[in-house]
Amino acid sequence: GSTIGILGGGQLGRMMAAAAAQLGYRTIGYAPPGDNVASDLCADFFENGWGDRDAIAAFASQCDIVTWEFENVPLSAVETIPQRMLAPHPAALGVAQDRLQEKSFVEQIGANCAPYMRVENDEDFARAMQRIGTPGILKTARDGYDGKGQWRVANEHDAQGVRFPGRPCIYEGMVAFDTEFSVILVRGTDGEIRFWDSTANTHEGGMLVQSVLPAGDRVEPLIEEARGIAAKTAEALRYVGVLTLEFFATQKGPIFNEMAPRVHNSGHWTIEGAATSQFENHVRAICGLPLGETATRFTSIDMRNIVGKDALTAHEILAEDGEPHLHLYGKREAHDGRKMGHVTRVSHTLP
Ligand code: ATP
Ligand code: MG
Ligand code: MG
Repeated sequence: GSTIGILGGGQLGRMMAAAAAQLGYRTIGYAPPGDNVASDLCADFFENGWGDRDAIAAFASQCDIVTWEFENVPLSAVETIPQRMLAPHPAALGVAQDRLQEKSFVEQIGANCAPYMRVENDEDFARAMQRIGTPGILKTARDGYDGKGQWRVANEHDAQGVRFPGRPCIYEGMVAFDTEFSVILVRGTDGEIRFWDSTANTHEGGMLVQSVLPAGDRVEPLIEEARGIAAKTAEALRYVGVLTLEFFATQKGPIFNEMAPRVHNSGHWTIEGAATSQFENHVRAICGLPLGETATRFTSIDMRNIVGKDALTAHEILAEDGEPHLHLYGKREAHDGRKMGHVTRVSHTLP
């Protein structure tokens, strides 16, 4: 096939479309109306709701293969598209859209998670805090991203200030981690799996702000175990494409947090820093092409997000020593907490 359909219109789709174009593919996007920055790089872009089955069918009829850059595409929308056209397998969406399913799925594969309980009302919430204790985090089971839909609970008294959101939630014990890291892999149609190096990730207010390599000695001893879990997850889902698992690095080993059945913010460094980027390998995988090398090409890498109406201008960043690689997503509005771009700094020496 030569036309790739992308569900979702954000920066991940934009970077995926750029990688697809390099390999000679046309891309067509589909997302609800909004600031769909992927549309700039797509040959055509459908702006319709997820409930518009006719529009989804019209979109799919122009595509040879359909993938997504956003894991909360409703399954009802995806099911409008013939399954043979979809990659990864949509089962991955079903699992990753629900934090309870996602955790129990990966636990069955052998991962450790923070203690968690399903919470549907105030009584459940009180019981979960008793059983699991505080500090903890209440999260909506579905639809959260960038730390949205989460309430941190320092102690039971604090919890009185949390108004139960009235939709299914999960309460998790707070993990005292050394750092966070992610495992990003690509799995091809023939089942071959390749991993990129794992970065150490820093979050602020639940949102990723920085990913660095080398990840350091709190992370490195845990990577093999975490990769094993990620590979088994990909195999169990008959996954084709790029899959990301987020972990907390602790003294007791890797603790699984969540998965993203897609390319990931903590893999943006692969554009300049790896032999083949996550975006290109995702395209290669879903199109049935041979996978590219994932090796890191530098000694140290530092990827930082540009969030909101941030500090430095493009001019200031590009004037720095060491040739920073600037990516701006072309978003029209820079409201607080919005990812506007990122900068990757690469070096042949240690920081
Ligand atoms: P993403 O944008 O990565 O999809 P998200 O909104 O789905 O984020 P999580 O990844 O579950 O949310 O949580 C965001 C961040 O909050 C985590 O990366 C971590 O820093 C912190 N966090 C979440 N759960 C826990 C926990 N149980 N213990 C400690 N920290 C946590
Ligand atoms: Mg998430
Ligand atoms: Mg996360």
